[in-house]
Amino acid sequence: MDRLIYLDNNATTPLDPRVLEAMMPYLTTQFANASSVTHRAGRAAAAAVEKARGQVASLIGATEKEITFTSGSTEAINMVLKGVFERYQTKGRHFITCQTEHKAVLDTFAYLEKQGAEVTYLPVSGSGALDLALLEASIRPDTVLVALMHANNETGVLHPVRDIGKITMRRDVLFFCDATQSVGKVPVNVTEIGVDLLCLSAHKLYGPKGVGALYIRRRNKRIQTGVLLHGGGQENKLRAGTLNVPGIVGLGEAASIAQKEMDTESLRLATLRDKLESGLTRLPATVVNGLGSPRLPNVSNIAFRHLKADQLMVGVPDIALSSGSACVSGTRDPSHVLKAMGLSDADAHASVRFSLGRFTTDEDIRTCICEVTETVNSLRASSPIWQLHNNE
Ligand code: PLP
Repeated sequence: MDRLIYLDNNATTPLDPRVLEAMMPYLTTQFANASSVTHRAGRAAAAAVEKARGQVASLIGATEKEITFTSGSTEAINMVLKGVFERYQTKGRHFITCQTEHKAVLDTFAYLEKQGAEVTYLPVSGSGALDLALLEASIRPDTVLVALMHANNETGVLHPVRDIGKITMRRDVLFFCDATQSVGKVPVNVTEIGVDLLCLSAHKLYGPKGVGALYIRRRNKRIQTGVLLHGGGQENKLRAGTLNVPGIVGLGEAASIAQKEMDTESLRLATLRDKLESGLTRLPATVVNGLGSPRLPNVSNIAFRHLKADQLMVGVPDIALSSGSACVSGTRDPSHVLKAMGLSDADAHASVRFSLGRFTTDEDIRTCICEVTETVNSLRASSPIWQLHNNE
């Protein structure tokens, strides 16, 4: 194997060359500040930003006015949760989320709990599914907002966002959706979902790192998120600071490509993902986490029981994989997502995420199946735990 097989696209995707091409002028000759509308160069930069706003809006069924550019999803999540907590104190301080959310949501809520917020963390089933009746029963008169992700970054499990939107609308609470992993991979339409706030991030859809967008509903409802950054009044006075024009242009182009290619690409990825799963689950004591739930087409989280995911990943140095969320790798805690799904510590530590992407080929998957199978077999052959279980 002479090249890296990159199967860590949920951590970040490579920049699509078409996106880089769209960005290049704004990294070189067209460097003007998008707020400098007194001259032609500044107006051209502002026009490029507005074009990108339209491209992002179009991908998620929003209007341009509803899109605020951010530095990514972590920023949008912090802005929404802290801003809503601050602005809606007269309604209440109760929030609802789920145990399998990304750390950006969970850690922000942990901070807000110290400031007096009360947070309900909904459990999930063994396949990562939410109980919608429990969600509805958890809404109280003082509930301000429900924060539930669309697609889980570790397992790819999709939450039924339309049903969630119906409940939050009927019960008149805000719905914030972290759609970082789903936008660009599966259809996301803010109107059909009935969501009030939604975040996305360019580096998960073949755009550059450090740029994202927050959708804030402006139709039929006035939502107060508060001001994230005070200063020059950019982004409708919500997030001041000189705009990252090349990044925003890259996000716009990435959104436009995803919109055009999503249907065929998601089918291609689902076929490759299924091939990977049927190849690897031929191994004994090997199960797909989240299998019973609807999932993203590009992700497979697999538990290779009785071995350590870290050892498996060291054993296949030419394949980029991940165990748990990339943002918490390096810690020794088992994945909070897999634990919430009821996996034992041992099975959570034995689980590996394979996340395929636009540049994954059929040959990559064939090689991956061979390499991983060989490594799992050899690790298990020399493992006393495996011998013990096999002799039971
Ligand atoms: N939410 C989810 C579901 C994610 O997967 C990630 C990134 O891993 C984030 C939020 C954070 O996004 P960003 O890297 O844009 O801050």
